[in-house]
Formats: sequence, C-alpha cells, structure tokens
Amino acid sequence: MSDKNYSFFGAVEKSFDKAAKFTKWEKGILEQIKACNAVYQMRFPVKRDDGSIEVIEAYRVQHSQHKTPCKGGIRFAAEVNQDEVMALASLMTYKCAIVNVPFGGGKGGIKVNPRKYSAYELEKITRRYTAELIKKNFIGPGTDVPAPDYGSGEREMAWIVDTYTAMHPGEIDAAGCVTGKPVSQGGVRGRREATGLGVFFGIREVCNMPDIMQKLGMPVGVEGKKIVVQGLGNVGYHTAKFFQDAGAKIIALAEYEGSITNPAGLDVDEVFNHRKNSGSILNFPGATNLAKNTDALELECDILIPAALENVVDGENAPRVKAKLIGEAANGPLTPEADEIFAQKGIVVIPDMYLNAGGVTVSYFEWLKNLSHVRYGRMEKRFNENMNMHILGQIEGLTGKKVASRDREYIVHGADEVDLVYSGLEETMISATHEIMNEWKANPAIPDMRTAAYVVAINKVATTYAELGIFP
Ligand code: NAD
Repeated sequence: MSDKNYSFFGAVEKSFDKAAKFTKWEKGILEQIKACNAVYQMRFPVKRDDGSIEVIEAYRVQHSQHKTPCKGGIRFAAEVNQDEVMALASLMTYKCAIVNVPFGGGKGGIKVNPRKYSAYELEKITRRYTAELIKKNFIGPGTDVPAPDYGSGEREMAWIVDTYTAMHPGEIDAAGCVTGKPVSQGGVRGRREATGLGVFFGIREVCNMPDIMQKLGMPVGVEGKKIVVQGLGNVGYHTAKFFQDAGAKIIALAEYEGSITNPAGLDVDEVFNHRKNSGSILNFPGATNLAKNTDALELECDILIPAALENVVDGENAPRVKAKLIGEAANGPLTPEADEIFAQKGIVVIPDMYLNAGGVTVSYFEWLKNLSHVRYGRMEKRFNENMNMHILGQIEGLTGKKVASRDREYIVHGADEVDLVYSGLEETMISATHEIMNEWKANPAIPDMRTAAYVVAINKVATTYAELGIFP
C-alpha cells in the first residue's frame, strides 16, 4: 500500500478543492485557508543509553491562526515527515471548525519509533523538543497547544507541561500549554477515551438516521452491527470497547503484527490483555488468524473502522472492501482514489476530520479547565444534588408514591467532571453530524460526506477571515 509518490498534504488539498467548488468564497481566501502559515523543522542531538549521539528530526506546523491558539497532537513515528505533519495540521483546522472548537490547526511530529527507545531516552527527546518549541514561541496556552497523537500519550504530555512550567515560573496558566495530561498534572477526566467515544457517538448518530440506513440496507441503530477495527491503540481500543458495550459485535481486530477474526464476536478487553501478555494479537483463543494484517479490512462486515494510520485503503484494495459504512477514526486512512471508489459503490464514508474530533473537543474542555483553575462540577454538584433531592421529596409527598432506589440515585446524582465531559462531547458530535448531513442534503451535487464536511469547515473559516476585514 505504500506509494512513494503519495502526498498526504496533496490529498488534503485535493479534497479541499473538490469542496471549495460548492462554496462562494473568492480564490484568495480559499488559498489562504489552504496554506500552512508556519512550518518549523528542527534537529537536535540526544545521547542514547549506550553513550552514542543521535540527531533527531522533528517538526511543528501551525496551519492556521484564524483562531488562536493553534491546536494539534504530536506524533512519534519513524515515518514522520514534513508533508505528513502539514497534512495533519490542516486537518486540525477543518476539524476544529466543524466541531466549533475555537482553535486554529497545528501538528507536531518527532521522527522516532518509540518502541526502539528507552523511557529515559524518550523523556530526553520530549523535553528537548519542548525546549526547542519554547525558544521559537511555538508553544504556550495562548499560541500553540500540543496534545497526544500516534505514539504519544499522557506520559509525554506530563514531560511537556513540566518542562514548560519550569521555564515559565509564575505563569499562572502554564498548565494550558498542552492537553492530554494525566489528571494529576491538570488533565481532565474523560480525555483518555475521548477520541474513541467521539468516534462512537458520530457513527451511532449516522446509524440512527433512517434514510441513510435504508440507503445502505441496514437496520437503524448500533446494536448487532458487525464491526471491524484496525489498530488497538488509544483510539481503536476505546472505539471498539464503546461499540461492544452498546451491543455491536466486534468480528475482527487488526494490529501491525497481524489480524484475527471471530464471527461470533471478540471481547475487546480479553484481546487487549492477550496482546499485552503474549506480545501479539495472534493466536487469541477461539479466533482465526488472518494471513496478512490488512486482510481484516476486506472482511464482510457492516462497519469498518480504520484506527491506526493514514493511507491504509487505496485504489488497489478499496474494490475488495465489503463494509457498508466506513468510519475514519484514524487521520487520512483512505486515499482520494479509495474515496472515489466508495462513492461510486454507494458506501458511506464518515470522514476523519469530524469523526475523530472527540480528542480535540475534550482537549478544549481541558484547556478551559486549566484557564479557569477549577474542576468541572466542583461548584454545582452538591447544590444540584440537594435541589434534586428536595424536588423528589416534594413529588413523592404529593403523589404518595416512592421512587425505586436505582431511579432515585439517577435522578438525584449531581454531575461529576466526567459526566459533564461526556455530555459536552456527545452534544458536540451529534450537532456536528447534523450540520454536515444538512449541508449534504441541501446540495445533492455534493458527492460524499467528506466533501460536505469540508464545505462546512471552509464556510466557517472563510467567514472568520472575511469578518476580519482584511479581504475587502
Ligand atoms: P496509538 O499509537 O495509541 O495506536 C495506534 C495503534 O495502531 C498501535 O497499537 C499500532 O500498533 C497500530 N498499528 C500501527 N500500524 C498498523 C497496521 N499497519 N495495521 C494495524 N494496526 C497498526 O495511536 P492513536 O492515538 O490511537 O492514533 C491512531 C490514529 O488516530 C492516528 O491516525 C491519529 O492521528 C488519530 N487520532 C488520534 C487522536 C488521539 O486522541 N490519540 C485524536 C485524533 C486522531
């Protein structure tokens, strides 16, 4: 599947141009939206545990400052390159616009395979990368706020916030310089599973649309749907888990070492633990090993969810994909050629830049928490519980009936931080799904949901630029 001439940024530009035709904006504004405003490529040395010195290549791209700060994860992968980071940064701009998160797009990349470095080496690399960003003013709660991405997680974010805070003594909002932090370092509850939960909410909303389900020949709802997930990392694991909990059947899982299937359904936690203990997803009891890790993508199923990396379905294997609905949990898993094939076959593709926006949405909540210096729910939880108790007491007194104890707990419960984060995310994903679908339905010439999503994004970003008045 690896095509040396493939440009991820080129693919994003292609999708953008396809959608721009359905908007009214002049060429100059569209060119400004498309361009990456700033690209910072850096090199720095790190001393390995064996005493040797290695030069590390890394990037931070700020795609758009139409809203600030810029926002986007940091990828740790051996394949990181400028084209990829630029593409991911631009997707962040469109993603934030679609889900009404007031940030511009950004992205970072460090060209290392984290599996080949010790924790101490990774800490040195992450801290040095942060220091380089600080030197060039490429990080800060009001300028540019990184987050986790492929190959990075809470641990790396903790190193970043610690380095930033150490170099900005007394800066009261310093914790807002990065999101995806552990809760003890200013993180928000619910961030870890946010992207997967957002993917679930987004796909569930589409599955609840009778007209779309009728077109795809599937019953309404998630329950009983046969699902294939590629990638059992942060996004893939949580997505699979939320689908399983909602009554869907995970019939296949793919990891980089191979893929497994069981038409009766796989238990996501058991597979996860099996991989943790044995080092491989293969040979899971009751499941069948597939010859190649990409074979899972071509299985008969209702929903395919690529949640690993970009460019995994292209013009070559797309004709063999049998799913009716594809949810892009990863960024850029489908090439434009694959998109064309699916549009012709009537397969609906729910596009990455909106579907995996749960991470950035909850990152926004985390950033707001950091700036307000108070945990969500702290002020009102007890007040609401007392009030609910009082109302319930009045109702019971007036009706002479008692509410069952399980219902009582549910009614009285005041929202905790995680309740509010889940609820804010659910509302965000549901509204975004309808905005995109309404755009698609309003213009039947729009060929697919991705193009509709781009139209929504372009209109919002262009409006911001136009209202700035710099383009008379
Ligand atoms: P991760 O590192 O936690 O997990 C990725 C998983 O994919 C790993 O387990 C890896 O082994 C597996 N993998 C790699 N190559 C594979 C292959 N060829 N076949 C099958 N599995 C393979 O990364 P993540 O954070 O889950 O990110 C996954 C995707 O989601 C990326 O495209 C990322 O940009 C996107 N994304 C992540 C977030 C987030 O909050 N983490 C938010 C938005 C989008």
